Parts: sequence; structure tokens; C-alpha cells
Amino acid sequence: MAKKKDTSKTNVAARLESKAQQQVCRFCGRKPEMVRQLTPSGKVQMFRKCCAEAGLVA
Ligand SMILES: [Zn+2]
Repeated sequence: MAKKKDTSKTNVAARLESKAQQQVCRFCGRKPEMVRQLTPSGKVQMFRKCCAEAGLVA
């Protein structure tokens, strides 16, 4: 019977998927979402919205 040789196709898809998964926050594992926030003292602070939504930061 005919053999299926389409494993390379799935390899490419898996590779693309793993590449997309590199774009995740290393703290919460979600899609990184950073917002700039001004502290009361006037300093700009980066705030991880993704982590806040994941419940990692208060
Ligand atoms: Zn995060």
C-alpha cells in the first residue's frame, strides 16, 4: 500500500508553533503585554499587564 510521507509538513508546523511560543512572558507565560506607568514621583515604570491578568502581581 502507499506510504504517507508527509511528516516534514508537520515538522514545519511544529517549528513555526515553537517559534511563536518564544513570544511569551517569562514570568507568567502569557503573551507579553507591557504598559508604561508614571509613578507618583514622576518616574516611568514598566508594568506587566499580562502578569497582572495572570494574578502574579498585585
Ligand atoms: Zn507576564
